[in-house]
Amino acid sequence: MTKPADFPPPFRAADYVAAPSDPPDERIEVGILIVGAGPAGLACAIRLGQLLEDAPEIRDRLGEVPVAVLEKGKQAGSHLLSGAVVNPRALRRLFKGRKRIDEMPFYGPVENESVYFLTKQNALRIPAPPTMKNDGNYVASLSRLGRWLAEQAEEAGAMLLPETAAEKLLVSDGRARGVRTGDKGRGRDGEPLANFEPGSDLVAKVTVLAEGTQGHLTGVALDRFGLAGESPQVWALGVKEVWKIKRPLDRVIHTMGWPLRPGAKYREFGGSFIYPLGEDMLTLGMVVGLDYRDVELSVHDLLQELKTHPLVRGLLDGGERVEWGAKTIPEGGFLALPKQLHAPGLLICGDGAGLVNVPALKGIHYAIESGSLAAEAAFAALQRGQTPATPGALSVYDEALKRSFVWKDLYEVRNMRPAFGRGFWLGGALAGAMTATKGRFPRRDLELERDVDVELIRTDRAMDFPAPDGKLTFDKLSSVFASGNKTRDDQPNHIVIRRDVPQDIAQLWERLCPAQVYEATEKGVDVTPSNCVQCGAITAKGGRLTPPEGGSGPEYTLT
Ligand SMILES: Cc1cc2nc3c(=O)[nH]c(=O)nc-3n(C[C@H](O)[C@H](O)[C@H](O)COP(=O)(O)OP(=O)(O)OC[C@H]3O[C@@H](n4cnc5c(N)ncnc54)[C@H](O)[C@@H]3O)c2cc1C
Ligand code: SF4
Repeated sequence: MTKPADFPPPFRAADYVAAPSDPPDERIEVGILIVGAGPAGLACAIRLGQLLEDAPEIRDRLGEVPVAVLEKGKQAGSHLLSGAVVNPRALRRLFKGRKRIDEMPFYGPVENESVYFLTKQNALRIPAPPTMKNDGNYVASLSRLGRWLAEQAEEAGAMLLPETAAEKLLVSDGRARGVRTGDKGRGRDGEPLANFEPGSDLVAKVTVLAEGTQGHLTGVALDRFGLAGESPQVWALGVKEVWKIKRPLDRVIHTMGWPLRPGAKYREFGGSFIYPLGEDMLTLGMVVGLDYRDVELSVHDLLQELKTHPLVRGLLDGGERVEWGAKTIPEGGFLALPKQLHAPGLLICGDGAGLVNVPALKGIHYAIESGSLAAEAAFAALQRGQTPATPGALSVYDEALKRSFVWKDLYEVRNMRPAFGRGFWLGGALAGAMTATKGRFPRRDLELERDVDVELIRTDRAMDFPAPDGKLTFDKLSSVFASGNKTRDDQPNHIVIRRDVPQDIAQLWERLCPAQVYEATEKGVDVTPSNCVQCGAITAKGGRLTPPEGGSGPEYTLT
């Protein structure tokens, strides 16, 4: 049968690399430019603010705007979505002597946790695997935490530029110079409308890419500077909802098993999370590896199905859905890391680099730590007698990351994700052995296979998905509405795919997309780009997401 790799998108990374083109006096000059106001980018901005506080001569050399953070969402937090149970380790280091954990916007520490293996009707409580234990961690909404971090970054002197998408990487003389931002106010065919605003060149001494999962310019930079590692990156898609509930949830819950199928031939790896958000809300989500094979699988609908399970239905009884969202997670871990996370004038951190611990479902503290280390490396390269543009000048970043807990944690669990490509039971057994030996088993690393290379199968899985009732279960369009997405529908299409694909691929995309962007037709596939919530799943399964006009997409507040 077919595989998505047979129909690659007409996308060339080289088209998104350019030399600065605005006349020199029209370029916007900043000291350090950070792309992405997520935990990685904001931690970088905060740490830079702290370092520059004690180094006025370096701050002066960075000009009028020493640190700027670009964010494509309407505001910081609008495009942030996570679980989230947060390991506070990196936040403690970042705010040492300045803020305490109880001053941060958490919903509270994890006090109890349960892990269940689900069958369609039953829930068997099982001991939490060591990687999933959350003692000492805190529950948060990443969107809310992101807004708070953005305030801290602004207080530390950074300038935040929301509603601004970084579209092209500016490179000249072999070094990153900054980014070109996307145009605004173009019509469907690219024609300028009455409110047209062209993009600008933003040039900087150091550009930090902190774009998160499926980072557009991160992919472009890996290609331009030849940074990709040997193993490919692989992804999972997470779809989640926030509910107002009648009775408080007193623990964090993870589930495995149903509604995913255990058979190795399906390659369905993942599970669900259910976390309390204070007394009157909870969040629940389904995360599924995008190496799945069945054309009919839909993570959006798996989440709807999960809510019909007696265990979950009982928690939501009498409640109301208040928000919905979706995002991918890079799951390749240590094996899929780029071979280098810096290039002349450029640093890459957070999910863009792939710093996620899959068995623990954790990436936030790695994003924060890598952002802080990127700030320290950029600052060191600005000391007198140094220049960040010299090849290797920013290599201290890679060295610091390799010495940090991020590296050690990811190394120990490096073979877990590929193990689960062999099916749930065998994967689980191998993962147990890996945990017991702290990653010394197996001796030879397993291999990752690109999500687009997995051959498709078709079952009648979709027949089992529950019909939406508008109370417990929802269709994709009402979910898009619950994401706050108000993208105008006459924008140029930002999704690069082939349209003349066979039915299997068209239907794969139709089911894959949680936001009903694709519709399989007789001739191939139709696209409604304004529904897109920029989850990134299409890039994993045969297309390429590019950033749409700044300010469009979801407007998350609680995800
Ligand atoms: C469903 C789900 C559950 C998760 N659960 C947990 C959990 O419980 N605990 C945990 O620790 N981790 C969890 N993670 C992982 C965690 O959310 C990520 O590791 C973390 O958010 C990565 O931070 P980041 O700053 O690298 O990227 P992001 O959080 O993705 O932030 C990147 C930011 O950059 C912006 N951006 C991207 N490209 C551009 C561009 N070109 N121009 C302008 N702006 C741009 C984006 O809009 C976004 O605001 C989960 C992830 C998902 C999807
Ligand atoms: S179009 Fe692609 S990136 Fe956008 S929501 Fe659908 S799958 Fe996600």
